[in-house]
Amino acid sequence: MVRAIGMLNLVILLSIRKISSQMNMINLQSFSSIVFDLDGVIYRGDTIRKGASELLALLDARGIKYHFLTNTSSQPRKDIILKLLNLGVKINRDHDLVSTCSEIAAHYLLEQFGQHSTVLTIGGGLGVADELKRVGIKQIALESCSLDEVTSVYKSRNDLLLLLGWTKEFSYETATTVLQLSRNIAQVFATDNDRYFSSDTGNLPGTAWLNGSIGSLLDVEIISLGKPNPASLSLALRKMHSTPSSTLLIGDSLISDIQVGKALGCNTVLVLGGASTLSDIQVMNSKMKPDYIINELSDLVEILLIT
Ligand SMILES: [Mg+2]
Repeated sequence: MVRAIGMLNLVILLSIRKISSQMNMINLQSFSSIVFDLDGVIYRGDTIRKGASELLALLDARGIKYHFLTNTSSQPRKDIILKLLNLGVKINRDHDLVSTCSEIAAHYLLEQFGQHSTVLTIGGGLGVADELKRVGIKQIALESCSLDEVTSVYKSRNDLLLLLGWTKEFSYETATTVLQLSRNIAQVFATDNDRYFSSDTGNLPGTAWLNGSIGSLLDVEIISLGKPNPASLSLALRKMHSTPSSTLLIGDSLISDIQVGKALGCNTVLVLGGASTLSDIQVMNSKMKPDYIINELSDLVEILLIT
């Protein structure tokens, strides 16, 4: 039995690599809270990743808090919780277990511009609509308005805000509306600037393709509010009543997840098989190098079971 556990330890040590020094095992029990990315970590498209359910159940049993922080803009938080439940993850239905980039954007716009601001949107679907409504900000979804409707109502304003979120529907007509409103738009924001996200059928374009189009069209700098903007992880930590030093961040993207975790001082774990690969790490600067790398969340389950 002792020999069997010894072999198990060896396998885990080999599968978990610590960057910049010798191989080392993550002591999960030393963290009081864990922030997980969702896409590519807990699930890939509509398929749950190996060990995800087991790990969350074990964290519950050990009293380690966890939270989900996602750059998914188009799904309301309650739908994300429903998706997790449908995938067999045993969690409570509290939508505050999840923070989305749409929620972060809505909070930011409320704090900076107040409830009386008017936000034009492209993309972001029900996720953006739900969060703007929650904070009481008026939304005008440009995809569903004609050029005449929008320009006639807002032609005398020069304080409109434009918020971009993930969409597959951006059209030439909407681009025309944005261009003709360019003098009325004071600032442009995006829920996130992810180039792509992982799915069952490989990587798919994220919000960056829309940001790039609008940025070029208006010749403006777009402020992205989701990961790796530190405001995103700060919100999650506030919800958890946790500090960066006591928190482990687990993600699949070096640019979004690992960068924001390191910026705030969290320990970070990269899960392979998602947005970033081992070869990506070689070309990243130290701000995006994870503290640990694992193949699957089941690696962490094995560690918890023997500690
Ligand atoms: Mg991800």
